Amino acid sequence: MSEVMEMPVKSPLLNDGRKSIYQPEQEGLIYPEEPTFSSVEEERRHLKERLVGACRAFALQGYDYGFAGHLTVRDPANPSLYWTNPMAVHFSQVKVSNLICADHQGNVVEGKHAINRAGFVLHAAVHEHHKDIVAMCHAHTLYGTAFAALGKKLEPISQDAAAFYEDHVVIGDEAGQVAVEVKAGHKVANAFAGVKAAIHQNHGLLTASRHSIESAAFWFIALERCCQQQLMVEATGVTPRLVTPERSRYSREHVGSDYIGWLHFQPIWEDLVATQPDMFS
Ligand SMILES: [Zn+2]
Repeated sequence: MSEVMEMPVKSPLLNDGRKSIYQPEQEGLIYPEEPTFSSVEEERRHLKERLVGACRAFALQGYDYGFAGHLTVRDPANPSLYWTNPMAVHFSQVKVSNLICADHQGNVVEGKHAINRAGFVLHAAVHEHHKDIVAMCHAHTLYGTAFAALGKKLEPISQDAAAFYEDHVVIGDEAGQVAVEVKAGHKVANAFAGVKAAIHQNHGLLTASRHSIESAAFWFIALERCCQQQLMVEATGVTPRLVTPERSRYSREHVGSDYIGWLHFQPIWEDLVATQPDMFS
């Protein structure tokens, strides 16, 4: 299978080497730092804990819909394997010990639970096509699924929505037919090039990150919220004033990067650590 050509990485470093304008220039202040690891085992444990955190965050947002919804993160040592939430376990009940590890053929190579067939088809195809994508999120959310019926992109109606400007696609292929066949996954994966999010027509939202599961999870939460906001605005019948293309691009560059998604997730993570210690069991 051919790899899809990727677009250049968005949001390059600032002139002073910082990843974001939000990183303090003043030294000695408390500010989230990206992790470093001394072993693969340490990194894997970290990734699994954050994957659980992303599932718990989805539970808090009310993103459960039966057994639908899957989050994945690529294994740090074996890029053809990825970790995901177990089939038919509520997002609020996902923990480190019930995660499963699967290959691109959908075989569970570690863990006791079954894998979500549709999750495997979509996520494995995207992970396989896009070697740089390390994490993905998908769920059947209320507003994202409603918006997906319109078959159109988000408009830059706010600074938050501008984070997705020219950084998401609408996928019409296989629209509305549950993606349980492998070829369906490849069609979706082909469309998912160089962007952090996709609106799958008549289905729902997908996000991907070249940085972390935290980033994919936050941008999923942001995308669902943007869909809700646009539907609310459209329901007024008043034509919204849009952020101009130039300003939309500026906002996306400064507040729409993978790093910013990771940074946005940090307060969510700290709250989960304080309130849901069973995540780690
Ligand atoms: Zn789905």
